[in-house]
Amino acid sequence: MARINGTTMLAGVIGWPLDHSLSPAMHNAVYAELGLDWVYVPLAVPDEVGLRRLVAAIRSLSFVGFNVTMPYKAAILDLCDEVATAAQIAGAVNTVHCVDGRLIGYNTDGRGLLETLQQDADFDPAGKSVVILGAGGAAGGALVALILARAAHVTLVNRDLVRAGELLERMASHTVNVTVQAFEYSQAEIAVRQADLVINATSVGMRPADPCPIPAEWLSPSQVVLDMVYGTARRTALVACGRAVGARTLDGLGMLVCQGATAVDIWNGSSQERTPRDIMLEAARREIDLRAAIGVDA
Ligand code: NAP
Repeated sequence: MARINGTTMLAGVIGWPLDHSLSPAMHNAVYAELGLDWVYVPLAVPDEVGLRRLVAAIRSLSFVGFNVTMPYKAAILDLCDEVATAAQIAGAVNTVHCVDGRLIGYNTDGRGLLETLQQDADFDPAGKSVVILGAGGAAGGALVALILARAAHVTLVNRDLVRAGELLERMASHTVNVTVQAFEYSQAEIAVRQADLVINATSVGMRPADPCPIPAEWLSPSQVVLDMVYGTARRTALVACGRAVGARTLDGLGMLVCQGATAVDIWNGSSQERTPRDIMLEAARREIDLRAAIGVDA
């Protein structure tokens, strides 16, 4: 970690709980690599009252920016002074840039998703059919990114169809040349079987005993299967099922690194240097290995 001194700027992640966050390790490693006089800290707040107090305090502290994770990606929207259009449509902000006392909200999850698909699976969503399991903040970021990347068909699959419908409604005026639809799990088999890309954007998989969110027999070898769940040395059930049928599988670590690096790119806007993803990935892997060695399942 870089030396902390009287001019060190702050960055961090707001969420609850944060015990298993890989972001402090990833960010501090890359700040040291880039010679940035910044330090990244966990900012755990248990409820929305705490969130509002913390954000008010951040305005008068020397923050370069901060990330926002579960469960506050929607609540932070109203606390920002400006929100990028893609984040507004997604209904989720995961990155805030502090500029002259103003808070500017972005969603870098979608960018991170596209980057890992391209870099780790050589997958271009243009013209493709995609199924997204989930309709929360991560699904919203993914949906916006896939539409911007010119996917042809996107199907949301969620337990709560009302929530999925609200997301589709926010997208409505942006869905030229793409069909979007929403189903419950019981109606989703055909869409999953026909998909080129299946994404898990639910929290199913975070706990070791979690099952595969869809029946394994719906998957096939021609598909790319991406589980956004990250931070564990074990494979999620979805990744294991995808591998078993011969699909190309990705866990959520590549996306996590790319969304975090994009946040640093935004905060470090005056620099022409792209934040090195490999340094952040190495730091995250070291942290995961360390936790596995001491028996903590992230
Ligand atoms: P969120 O807004 O709380 O949404 C959670 C989603 O999971 C909802 O669609 C919810 O469905 C669904 N869900 C929860 N329990 C379920 C269950 N037992 N069965 C079926 N669906 C269930 O959370 P989020 O911010 O979108 O995050 C979702 C996941 O993505 C988390 O695992 C998070 O760590 C991961 N994520 C990863 C990255 C990355 O960079 N890799 C980035 C962002 C998020 P209902 O609406 O029906 O309740």
